[in-house]
Amino acid sequence: MPIRRLSESLVNRIAAGEVVERPASAVKELVENALDAGARNIDVTVRDGGQSLIAVADDGHGIPRGELALALERHATSKLPDDDLWSISTLGFRGEALPSIASVSRLTLASRPRGAAEGWKIAVEGGRMGGVEPAALAEGTRVEVRDLFFATPARLKFLKSPRTELDHAVDWLHRLAMAHPQVAFTLTDGARTPVRLTTALSRLDRLAQILGRDFAGNALTIEAERDGIRLSGYASLPTLNRPTSREQCLFVNGRAVRDKQLLGAVRAAYMDFLASDRHPIVALFLDLPPAAVDVNVHPAKTEVRFRDSGAVRGLVVGALKHALAAAGHRAATTVAGQTLASFRPGGYGSYAAPASLPRGMAEAAATYQVPLMQSAPSLPPAAPEPAAATAEQPLGAARCQVHGTYIVAQTADGLVIVDQHAAHERLVYERMKSALANGGIKRQGLLLPEVVELGEASAARLVERQAELVELGLVLEAFGPGAVVVREVPALLGQTDVAGLVRDLADELQELDQALSLKDRLADVCGTLACHGSVRAGRRLAPAEMDALLRQMEVTPHAGQCNHGRPTYVELKLADIERLFGRR
Ligand code: ADP
Ligand code: MG
Repeated sequence: MPIRRLSESLVNRIAAGEVVERPASAVKELVENALDAGARNIDVTVRDGGQSLIAVADDGHGIPRGELALALERHATSKLPDDDLWSISTLGFRGEALPSIASVSRLTLASRPRGAAEGWKIAVEGGRMGGVEPAALAEGTRVEVRDLFFATPARLKFLKSPRTELDHAVDWLHRLAMAHPQVAFTLTDGARTPVRLTTALSRLDRLAQILGRDFAGNALTIEAERDGIRLSGYASLPTLNRPTSREQCLFVNGRAVRDKQLLGAVRAAYMDFLASDRHPIVALFLDLPPAAVDVNVHPAKTEVRFRDSGAVRGLVVGALKHALAAAGHRAATTVAGQTLASFRPGGYGSYAAPASLPRGMAEAAATYQVPLMQSAPSLPPAAPEPAAATAEQPLGAARCQVHGTYIVAQTADGLVIVDQHAAHERLVYERMKSALANGGIKRQGLLLPEVVELGEASAARLVERQAELVELGLVLEAFGPGAVVVREVPALLGQTDVAGLVRDLADELQELDQALSLKDRLADVCGTLACHGSVRAGRRLAPAEMDALLRQMEVTPHAGQCNHGRPTYVELKLADIERLFGRR
């Protein structure tokens, strides 16, 4: 076969394969064009999930009559004035979207530039362009795309239900809207209007419109800058989390991206606070000099390449961790809302624990007790009368312990219920982490070294990790083929059931990836240790012990959630309680 040049319309159809994957991609491209044109109001109409119609109308600067045909030509753009791919400040720049969409649909482009007396339109069908004709429309541009993919039946087969395609379009519009709070957006499908966004006063305002008031009220402000790279935005407290990462919205220089590296950085920052199947909600905006990022990676422009990706990752992880640490013991208020809802007759839902907990954790949680007083540093003297809660004690004064598991405390304006197991596990974890960072974990020698029978495989696994375990405060050595002898344990555990601890650790090691160091899996290991740093189940706590736990939580970073993103306490305001009883 001889080599030949492909026809323009075939080239466009091939490009369309990458640029317009599904109706939502066309919506994205058309709305990006409207934003690039400086529109203040953008209205999207779709029918059948966008398959039979997508129309985008804007009030931007418009296209002069003489340029209408050019706008539909391949590689024709008004957005690269200096031919410089390293100083891109617009969302578009490849001059590909309109010709690509037009090559696989019936498209009409109508526009009336600002200040022009009349509008003009041009129609294309399956890549064949008609003449320019007068059109009646307000200032701005209106693009209508009918019968998307009619020219490429294979692509039609890949489309999901109209409902799903509509969801994708809404998702894209939401992301674009987050980066442009000053612009008003609507999206209708004839029957409903799933997007109706009025001009927002601020970015947080816009995020609240889209991600909900719960997010706005339980989000940490993220602000950081290093070497000309700026990160800003909002990230949810770990206790406000979701089963997927769909609500993680990332932007690079105002462009919505789905970047694996950035998503990975978010995951790394929350690793200590969330089970692997739970995800925070974030809206993060990276701004960096155009020359520091390559947006010309893929025709859909949703991937980017950073010149210094290490610096970007470091900034994101660092800023998120810093904000999470500064949040102290704060847990999301949504937890209380969900709690109250489940109290009420016909409540609309209750807090769902993450589906997967490490083995043994759930049972341990049920029987967990706070450690002996000796292991709880800086205990206040026991007060004969429970002290009144003060403003400096946000978690309040302990009033009682119920079911051997929960501490009920009175705060200045409500009450707090603490899951003592979850809270203590978190305290142990945070203390071990800081001890590791500050010269090591203190050990405490056992009066009588304890021999623990484990079976050969388990004993061998522990002995293999001997050196690492010493760093974590546990000194043990082999004792015959199937046993170990334990000589020292981490001091902060207090009196420990040594045999139980060592057995669970051996189990834990079996499940751990061999390649990972115990320090990398500290959350898991500490969970196991914390489960055994306790006195016997059923032991009642003295008021001073309960108060000590509350005070420690207040000064411990991240004490509001356990290692798996579940809350360690729930706060109910007096006003909420009064509402429960119909007093308000
Ligand atoms: P790109 O956006 O990469 O330039 P497109 O094919 O999406 O390529 O658009 C081609 C050109 O048509 C744009 O550069 C712009 O000049 C013009 N254009 C497209 N849509 C609009 C619009 N809504 N308002 C004003 N001009 C537009
Ligand atoms: Mg474009």
